[in-house]
Amino acid sequence: MSKIKFAKPRVCKRCWSRNGIKKISKEFMEKESHCKLCRGLFLKLDEIVDSILKEINSTGEIRTFSIGTSIPKASEVLEEQIWDYLNIKNAKSIKPELNAEIGKKIEKKSKYKFDPNPDIKIIYNVENGSVIKCLTPLYLYGTYNKLERGIRQTKKKGSKEESVEGLIEGVLANEVGTKGSKVILHGSGREDIDVLMLGSGRPFVAEITNPIKRDLNRKELEEISRKINGNCGKIKVDLKRVVDKEFVKIIKRAKFDKEYEAIVRLDAPIEKEELKLLPNQILLMQRTPKRVLIRRADKIRKRWIKNLESELVDEKTIKLKILSQSGTYIKEFISGDDGRTQPSVSSLLNRKAVCQQLNVTSIHSEWLDDFW
Ligand SMILES: [Zn+2]
Repeated sequence: MSKIKFAKPRVCKRCWSRNGIKKISKEFMEKESHCKLCRGLFLKLDEIVDSILKEINSTGEIRTFSIGTSIPKASEVLEEQIWDYLNIKNAKSIKPELNAEIGKKIEKKSKYKFDPNPDIKIIYNVENGSVIKCLTPLYLYGTYNKLERGIRQTKKKGSKEESVEGLIEGVLANEVGTKGSKVILHGSGREDIDVLMLGSGRPFVAEITNPIKRDLNRKELEEISRKINGNCGKIKVDLKRVVDKEFVKIIKRAKFDKEYEAIVRLDAPIEKEELKLLPNQILLMQRTPKRVLIRRADKIRKRWIKNLESELVDEKTIKLKILSQSGTYIKEFISGDDGRTQPSVSSLLNRKAVCQQLNVTSIHSEWLDDFW
């Protein structure tokens, strides 16, 4: 493509000096107010900043901001033509200068501080003066208990099943967000839909989009928790503190030992004495369960059952208390999953064993609370 030579690029003193050119003949010089590159924007910074501040002020609790600008294509083209025509090395675009000047002025005129990871991101459109604002979500750390069976952890598209995520969404959106706020639950692991989550609960982070509130102390969080818990009685949450996005990764990667209580049904009667066939501690070789093969790779994992206690309920029913390493599939430890988990309650007792009811009674996640 042949380059169109730009006969006499005329821009203002400010635009030349940005590119390191201090002296230039008059024919290349334009008045700042008439400059087609900067469009005299630097002369109207107060006006621009006031319109941005109006937007931030109407957005709830904000402490930090970042600023970006979108400039018309014509200005970008002109800028490149100038660099091209005069062979300017180390050419500098108008955008960073504009962003910096607006940012400095916002800090001067308000209590808001610039931050590359801000509460609010502002994009100022130079051409039409519009302000686009994008709020960073709010992240709340807490724990939840599931007190009824049949509740999923997160919502499933097209499913009518209730979820912990769905049950906390309404109150959270109402208390800290706006009508359009969405709530995303990031759990530290998950229990099956038919498993209760008891004890001190499962750690999670609730991400709330478009939050209006950001400064929430323990007392306010307790109040919100009470509202959620009073709403349905099916779950119990304990919101503990505001965290940053990084904390989602921490709880997602965390490995906690877990305690379970299981009611197990056997296909043949058993004597109390025979329960001694179950050792206190067991090293399992667990191949990915058949039921999760669709979403997980088929591989063999080593997992410790760190403590196992058993009790006879009736001749074909036993109750197990299990302390296991993170990532153990408990239902498969009981059934054996057609030999994919070895050993198993089935193989150790020489009877077909099926988990009839399962509860998580404790997640050893205490160290998360010592994080601060
Ligand atoms: Zn200019």
